[in-house]
Amino acid sequence: MSHSWIQLDLNALAWNYRLVQEKIGPHKEVLAVVKANAYGHGMIPIATALRAMGMQWFGVAGVAEGCRLREILPDAKILVMGCILDEEIPDLFQSDLIPAVSSLRFAQELNGKAQRNSIPLRVHLKVDTGMGRLGIHPHALQDFLNQVAQLPYLRVEGMMSHLASADEKDLEPSVTQLWLFESATEQAKAAGLHPRWMHVANSHAIFRLPKSHFNLVRCGLFLYGLYATQDFPEGFGLKPVLQWKARIGLIKEFHPGQTVSYGRTHTIHKTTKVAVISVGYADGYDRRLSNRGRVLIHGQYAPVVGRVTMDHIMVDVGSIPGAEQGDEVVLIGSQGDLQIRVEDMAQWLDTISYEVVCGIGPRVRTCLIAQSVGGPTVGLQPGS
Ligand SMILES: *Cc1c(COP(=O)(O)O)cnc(C)c1O
Repeated sequence: MSHSWIQLDLNALAWNYRLVQEKIGPHKEVLAVVKANAYGHGMIPIATALRAMGMQWFGVAGVAEGCRLREILPDAKILVMGCILDEEIPDLFQSDLIPAVSSLRFAQELNGKAQRNSIPLRVHLKVDTGMGRLGIHPHALQDFLNQVAQLPYLRVEGMMSHLASADEKDLEPSVTQLWLFESATEQAKAAGLHPRWMHVANSHAIFRLPKSHFNLVRCGLFLYGLYATQDFPEGFGLKPVLQWKARIGLIKEFHPGQTVSYGRTHTIHKTTKVAVISVGYADGYDRRLSNRGRVLIHGQYAPVVGRVTMDHIMVDVGSIPGAEQGDEVVLIGSQGDLQIRVEDMAQWLDTISYEVVCGIGPRVRTCLIAQSVGGPTVGLQPGS
């Protein structure tokens, strides 16, 4: 029996995927970003479900993730978006992964290896239009493109860039990035390259910057039904896929003057009951939620009291008299009429949703998968 698990609503995943497809319109494709264990949701169940829904493209950060994904998706297109070391090049061939290329030196390495294998390699070229991370700077681009065009074993199938601030109020810098990307595509043509796939958009850009769509969009966060922060009142109609739950492990009475957890940061002033829950910072329940977070029990909020420890949190259930050992605790998700959204937890932690879900640790099993075709959501048994 798991003490803490995440529950995935695959109907919500399908809903979000459809919303994205509707937003971009026909003749354009979606690449599902499933790096970082599908943003903490579990790469295997998420990628398997998306593939079954018709998703062709998947994006990962590194080669190791790509190899793991290839084992479950023999025929998907897998783009490795992050840095790749020379020693990982053999795995690109072995697992048929598509690298994003950000330097001439690396392009030459790839070409050399492809030549020795006598297998041409598909690549996407990455341009740094303002992200300031991976990609070739515009001033060096024409020379890079001219030289890449001379590498006979590379098939330049795509050209991409990444936006630095698609989730911020001011879209002007993103518009500048798009303009730079368009001139990069012209430069590619001038070098005799005709990449089939052009892509820039991430989740927020898909909904906020239609000009960023080109013919492929890379969507992570929105597939999971999340927003970066609470600052998106426009609400694009997405549905969260993940709920994070646990059980009450122990109920204990506390009396005035007693303190709770390490450092004695919470003192009891009035006799109450405290529930001990088997989830802690080792599971990704952030220590900064000490005396700040809250959970749902019996459809009511209960505050986290005292410090979050490695394996346990304590919550005050004095106002929830029926609470008992074994009862379900919602850390993220809904219960009754109330909910705790990932965006709420991100706000408590002064961070973004991405960090909250990526932090959910490997000890938290993906135990319950809800899926239905048209009908009500059905939960499978833990352990599936
Ligand atoms: C992570 C990532 C994305 C996905 O971003 P979301 O905001 O989650 O949609 C897209 N492109 C690149 C290069 C990324 O690293």
